[in-house]
Amino acid sequence: MRLGIISALHEEQQGLVEALEGPSRLVHGMRDYATGKLWGIDAVCVLSRIGKVAAAMTATMLVEKFGVTHILFTGVAGAGDAGVRVGDIVVAESLLQYDIDASPLFPKYEVPLTGLSHFLTDAQLSGQVATAAQSFLDQDFMDAIGADERKQFRLGKPRVHRGLVASGDRFVSAREHIEQLNASLPGLLAVEMEGAAVAQVCFELGVPFAIVRTISDNANEDAAVDFMCFVKSVAALYAFHIVKRLCTNS
Ligand code: SAH
Repeated sequence: MRLGIISALHEEQQGLVEALEGPSRLVHGMRDYATGKLWGIDAVCVLSRIGKVAAAMTATMLVEKFGVTHILFTGVAGAGDAGVRVGDIVVAESLLQYDIDASPLFPKYEVPLTGLSHFLTDAQLSGQVATAAQSFLDQDFMDAIGADERKQFRLGKPRVHRGLVASGDRFVSAREHIEQLNASLPGLLAVEMEGAAVAQVCFELGVPFAIVRTISDNANEDAAVDFMCFVKSVAALYAFHIVKRLCTNS
């Protein structure tokens, strides 16, 4: 296995890059690919930057230039449903691009010429990621996340959810928008800006992949408040520990 790990934001990946054993770096196409061993697993870490095109380009490079056999995306997302709270973890079972609409030529949300609107993640890898996420919450969470941060972001007893994640080239920060997405997409758990692009690339190239997202906001008017603080002091630690538990199979 050679695992490609993509994150959208620098803060989310810093800890993983620092944990690489025998690291080497290659800059290509405005991205910094860090290769090495992560707890014994051959890995390549890279920032996609933000949005679907950036993520698609990064996933393609990981496969075609760096020979990864599996891809994991770790990042943050807005809650897509009232049952999903800040600090919860969403492991995608399927992903959809909510801003693709070639109707009436193709059904709304369908990616033309694939026949699909929902792209399925790899069941085995996603299962392992969900197990790692649950172990993180059960065993690491209280030590890993400081009491101040738990209080500031009202992190009570975070949960792991599995289901639909929707992606689009927009930071969702209006109540009407997230309510409209929730109403149009049954089972929606989270909204973000990259996952479904990675999903389409992996589908087309036949590469197993998983997407894990820490919920950073409620995709409403408050979404941008404390966003980077949450990423640095909470989500980055979630990503680090989940990947560690995944790689060490613990
Ligand atoms: N403020 C940041 C920009 C973050 S963009 C900066 O200045 O760098 C938001 C990132 O988090 C994207 O990678 C996206 O996938 C995810 N995300 C988190 N909450 C989101 C929301 N409410 N809507 C869309 N994407 C969200």
